[in-house]
Amino acid sequence: MSDAMVAAPASDAQSGGTQRVDVAVVGAGFAGLYLLHHLRKAGFTVVALEEGNDVGGTWHWNRYPGARCDIQTIDYSYSFDPELERAWTWSEKYATQPEILRYLGFVADRYELRRDIRFGTKVKTATWDEATLRWVLTTDSGASVSCRYYIMATGCLSAPKPPEIDGVKEFKGEVYFTGRWPHQEVKFAGKRVAVIGTGSSGIQSIPLIAEQAVHLTVFQRTPNFALPAHNGPVPADRKTLLDNDRAGYREQARWSLAGVPYPQQTTVSWQLNDAERRERFEQAWAIGDLVYILSQLWADQGSDVDGNALVAELIREKIRAIVKDPDTAAALSPHDHPFGAKRPCLDTNYYATYNRPNVTLVNLRQEPIKAITASGVTTDKRSFDLDVIVFATGFDAMTGAMIAVHPITGRAGKALSSVWADGPQTYLGLTVAGFPNLFMITGPGSPSVLSNMTVSIEQHVDWVVDRLIAMREAGFTTIEATETAQAGWARHMADCSMLTLHRLANTWYTGANVPGKALGVMPYTGGVGPYRSICNEVVSRGMLGFKLTGPNVAGQCNDGEIVRLQPDVRLVLNMMADMKLPPIETLGAQGARYFINEFNKARPAGRPVGEVVDSTLPGNDGLLPYRLYRPATPGPHPIVVYFHGGGWVLGDQQSDDPFCRDLCRRTGMIFVSIGYRHAPEHRFPAAAEDGYAATRWIGEHAAELGGMSGYVLVGGWSAGANLAAVTCQLTRDRGGPHIAGQLLVCPVTDCAFDRPSYNDNGTAYFLTRGLMYWFWDLYCSPADRTDPRVSPLRGKLGGLPPAFVVTCEFDPLRDEGIAYADALAKAGVPVEQLQARGHFHSSFTMVDVVRTGASGRAKMAEALRRFAGMPKQAEQSDEVTHRDWGVSPPQFNAAAK
Ligand code: NAP
Repeated sequence: MSDAMVAAPASDAQSGGTQRVDVAVVGAGFAGLYLLHHLRKAGFTVVALEEGNDVGGTWHWNRYPGARCDIQTIDYSYSFDPELERAWTWSEKYATQPEILRYLGFVADRYELRRDIRFGTKVKTATWDEATLRWVLTTDSGASVSCRYYIMATGCLSAPKPPEIDGVKEFKGEVYFTGRWPHQEVKFAGKRVAVIGTGSSGIQSIPLIAEQAVHLTVFQRTPNFALPAHNGPVPADRKTLLDNDRAGYREQARWSLAGVPYPQQTTVSWQLNDAERRERFEQAWAIGDLVYILSQLWADQGSDVDGNALVAELIREKIRAIVKDPDTAAALSPHDHPFGAKRPCLDTNYYATYNRPNVTLVNLRQEPIKAITASGVTTDKRSFDLDVIVFATGFDAMTGAMIAVHPITGRAGKALSSVWADGPQTYLGLTVAGFPNLFMITGPGSPSVLSNMTVSIEQHVDWVVDRLIAMREAGFTTIEATETAQAGWARHMADCSMLTLHRLANTWYTGANVPGKALGVMPYTGGVGPYRSICNEVVSRGMLGFKLTGPNVAGQCNDGEIVRLQPDVRLVLNMMADMKLPPIETLGAQGARYFINEFNKARPAGRPVGEVVDSTLPGNDGLLPYRLYRPATPGPHPIVVYFHGGGWVLGDQQSDDPFCRDLCRRTGMIFVSIGYRHAPEHRFPAAAEDGYAATRWIGEHAAELGGMSGYVLVGGWSAGANLAAVTCQLTRDRGGPHIAGQLLVCPVTDCAFDRPSYNDNGTAYFLTRGLMYWFWDLYCSPADRTDPRVSPLRGKLGGLPPAFVVTCEFDPLRDEGIAYADALAKAGVPVEQLQARGHFHSSFTMVDVVRTGASGRAKMAEALRRFAGMPKQAEQSDEVTHRDWGVSPPQFNAAAK
């Protein structure tokens, strides 16, 4: 049966001035229309309340000249009904506002939605009634509404922000706001026009206004990155992809990062030379697609300031090439934020418009607006006489439509505005603790504006309606997020905010465009696909984080946090689970080594250092290979003797190469990664004795290696950290060399397997209990296992070098690492611990894969520098904070840490 043929039950009739429905929806844009259709199809009675006089939402209000979508329209469409998809053909790559409005009208007609929409109706108040367990809505026109469920489909950019400039009311000419554009045509011909604001709305409208106005003055506070849309027919390649496999294309979009089916890039910027990077950039510039240029150049463009700076400079080069006047080009070139951290714009002739003789750019950073007067705009340097002022000054985004437009009062009389005074708190961006039966579509805390909105809207609507159906079937009538789940989501949001550079810019994404608004990254930065899988997991884990009640059923509350892993750790583990790999211990030593080598080939290459030298040194029984990493700075440098991980069986200099490069760069120290002998060919104590021998040789030859003499440092990961710890004990007992400090990352310290982390984390986090048993069996007979050369926790700990001990929450080795750190401290050794929340055994060595490990590696590097008596190092590009860009840090997410 066609979706269009579904008979929809009418909303309950009005009685006594109150309309009773199962569900009230606010808004009749993309989200409201689909909600209405889906809810009716599911048998709920629904009313949609819409302030405008027709459908369209944001596309109803934003009808300024040049308004178009900036996601290709074939992607910016509903996908819930294949027949609808076949029934509509877009005429352009980026449809105009009138065409999008026609599309939404077509959808409304096709599913007969208008009969359940009350147009011209603004919700004035929304109050949760504890007695009836219903929401009561008062409106500015017609009956109030009593509903079981209240769903805000109000859009993220629908509450225009006041211009915050004195004197607007004094101006005698015409005033327009792009976000509330009149329905009748606005004529600019023969007029002196000003546009204030250069976000997407300004950048779209400026070229068209310039073509009509006698003179256009653009008042720019912050330049924005804009890219040519190259609008035209729908591109043949994308259309073919869609036509060949419509369902597959849409499904790929649903699981992508931004809601558009582009693959994830794995090549990092430092793997490409200048010419290769330029070629990729030129191709993206020519394609004219925001998501493409934001995601398809190189893997680190959106996550690392250095990788990002390369793109930003290429765009600035384009601006300089297009804009003839160098001063104007300089003023139009953004320098205060990473590319993509502020929403970039798609334009048609934007930069070229400044070559027109009738266009003037006023840089408000050099001459701020003092006031708007009766005749125009006065800056602190000059006055501009004007006939028209267009404010393209943006929106109180994400939260404005919900808290500013009308008071929403939840349980115990609490207003949403006060609950959100320090920033929006939500569970999944869908619900708020204390506000039962209230849902938000694409609310703060969901991918929303960082995604193709139609994909995110459909995901939210499907999730919400499916939940309401499931509740109805189970007899539940209320649903409410728990405080635990909400606090966990805030923590997860804060973790995710470290994956991208959005935190580094003052934008409407962070609330910084509205004076006094709490600062923090509001949209979910973890990606559309991962977010979808989390929402699904909430359901599969018994509505985790929700309280459900009903009149005739026992209440249910499966409390907890949905994501306790760091977001990138979750992705890595899910990816491994999807690969359905056999347990490593079943592959045999050679098979496991081969597997690890192949697996490592897929990861980003380590970053450049000054020099890398492969050579050999004498071990305990023959030559051992080593790889030396030298910083680019002048030496001599302190030397760190490094031992790779791999359970004494696997791994080599190559396996830990990115980690060594990273620490070499961060510390400014030489790292010498030792190829010690492996089990089962060489069993205990071969690796331990090699570790000691290598350290002694390096200590004796430090100057020849270009290092500082007199001391070395040691470090290692996993079994390598075991060797580092053992080496410290052996050098203490055998007369040197002097070790200035030890870095132990997830160390093996003891042969007992009964600590809680061996059980808690024994099966699901890559390094399993079974794998550890196998490693132990290959390396060391049970009779030898209490020897401190393999169980350093059982050795004498006094007089050891200062230590930095890193443990990960989801690691079987967590508790023995903590036990070792505690025992060292008890023995009087200076110890610092980093207990890394949400991380797993491999987090810190998966450099440029687990990006949330960057701050931990920075702490390791600082510790090594302290041990060597060196001053604090400058921050690396992957740990840049707000202050480096001159903006304040997010506040409300930080509170969740
Ligand atoms: P916006 O990006 O927030 O831009 C507002 C502009 O006004 C900024 O340049 C801002 O400068 C400036 N401004 C604000 N207050 C000012 C003041 N008091 N004095 C001087 N300048 C002031 O708003 P928008 O252009 O309406 O776009 C908002 C979002 O809507 C976009 O990012 C996009 O997601 C969406 N949108 C999409 C399309 C599309 O192509 N589909 C079109 C329009 C909008 P500062 O940067 O210094 O604050």
